[in-house]
Amino acid sequence: MSITIIEHPLAGDLLTILRNKETQPPEFRQIAERLGYLLVADALSDMATNEVDIVTPLEPTTGTQLTGPVVAVAVLRAGLGLLHSVLTLVPDAAIGFAGVQRNEETAEPMEYYTKFPELSAARVLILEPMLATGGSLSWAIDKVKENGAQDIVAVCVVAAPEGVEAIKTSHPDVRIVAAALDRELNPSFYIAPGLGDMGDRLFGTL
Ligand code: URA
Repeated sequence: MSITIIEHPLAGDLLTILRNKETQPPEFRQIAERLGYLLVADALSDMATNEVDIVTPLEPTTGTQLTGPVVAVAVLRAGLGLLHSVLTLVPDAAIGFAGVQRNEETAEPMEYYTKFPELSAARVLILEPMLATGGSLSWAIDKVKENGAQDIVAVCVVAAPEGVEAIKTSHPDVRIVAAALDRELNPSFYIAPGLGDMGDRLFGTL
């Protein structure tokens, strides 16, 4: 398993706005989408490409295009905050959904909905913005693998060391891309310093 922390100054700028408790949902959603562009671009940075012959207004030349299909699987609800970033960068991407709820006492994942497109030949981006215990992400990776996925990258905004360790153990073949690796999980399984509950901050719930 490898983890890539995006070191771009723009990522730090955007993440700081997300972390600020004064940032309200309309701005939070926009900033999450903008940060998502950087994360998704990195998650696709090692995609295979093939050459294509084209003609510019000046002369014939050779360009490249993505070879394989891309699928994004949004882990509900917070993963929805990164979905538009994928669809803007890769409009042909097919989308899956993984509905999992955290048991607030045990922090164990509880499934309530899954729906996936064809996964077997695709780069599968699992959109799980807050990698806390790793339980939900590990569950989502299990699910996409059961449905044929072989090439998986997890796209996170903030990761906790505990979650990274968990994925290293359960799914060593999966790469994680994140904007930050934070200090720790607190006793309520929130990432500290973190940004709070990503779903609540995106959608204005309490
Ligand atoms: N999920 C969140 O939205 N935030 C955390 O800090 C941990 C899990």
